[in-house]
Amino acid sequence: MDQLAAKEANNDALAPANVLAPIQEMVRACIQCGTCTASCPNEFAMDHTPRKLWRLVLMGLTEQIFQSKTFALCSNCYCCTLRCPRGLPLTEAMSALKQIAARQNLATYRQSTLFYKNFLQSVRRHGRVNEMEFMAFYFAALRNLVIPLRFAPLGMKLMRKGKVSVAVPLNARRPLESIFRNVEALEDMT
Ligand code: SF4
Ligand code: SF4
Repeated sequence: MDQLAAKEANNDALAPANVLAPIQEMVRACIQCGTCTASCPNEFAMDHTPRKLWRLVLMGLTEQIFQSKTFALCSNCYCCTLRCPRGLPLTEAMSALKQIAARQNLATYRQSTLFYKNFLQSVRRHGRVNEMEFMAFYFAALRNLVIPLRFAPLGMKLMRKGKVSVAVPLNARRPLESIFRNVEALEDMT
C-alpha cells in the first residue's frame, strides 16, 4: 500500500459518531414508513434503501453509513423530501452526508468527491461546465488510466454528435465568482 492509499484507508476511520448529530436531528421524526424508498429513482442501485439509511443514522452506526454508497448515489431530485409524510428534509440530509464524506476525504467516496469538486471548479471558472476541461482535470485527479479508457467510446460518440466541444476557453472569465465567495463565507460561518 503506498502512502496515499494508507492515508486514505486511515481516513475511513475518521467519521466519529458526533458528526451525525445534525443529521439525526433532521430525521428524528422518521416513522420508517418507507415512502422515501418507494419514491427514490436511484434506489435500485443503492446498497441500503433510504429508509434503512435513516435508521442507521438514528442508531449512530457511522461505520455502516460511511461504507455505504446510498447517499453518494442521491441525485438531489427531492422526490423523497416532497413525499415524506413527516415533512423531513431528506435531500438536505443526503447532502450533509456527502459533505462529511468530502470534508473527511473518505477513500470510499474519493471518486464522487473528485467529480463534484472538479465539476464545480469548471463552473466557477467559466460560469458553466466546460466538459472537456472538466473531464481532463477529473481524470488527472483520479490517477487511474482505466477509468478514462472506459469512457473513451462515449466521449467519441458525444463529440461526433457535436454534444461536447473540444475547445477549452483559455481565459477563465469567472462570472459566478462572487456567488462562490458568498457561499464559502456562509460555509465558514456554520
Ligand atoms: S418517508 Fe419519511 S417517515 Fe417515511 S421512512 Fe422515509 S424518512 Fe421516514
Ligand atoms: S433526493 Fe436523493 S434519496 Fe431522495 S428520492 Fe431523490 S435521489 Fe432518492
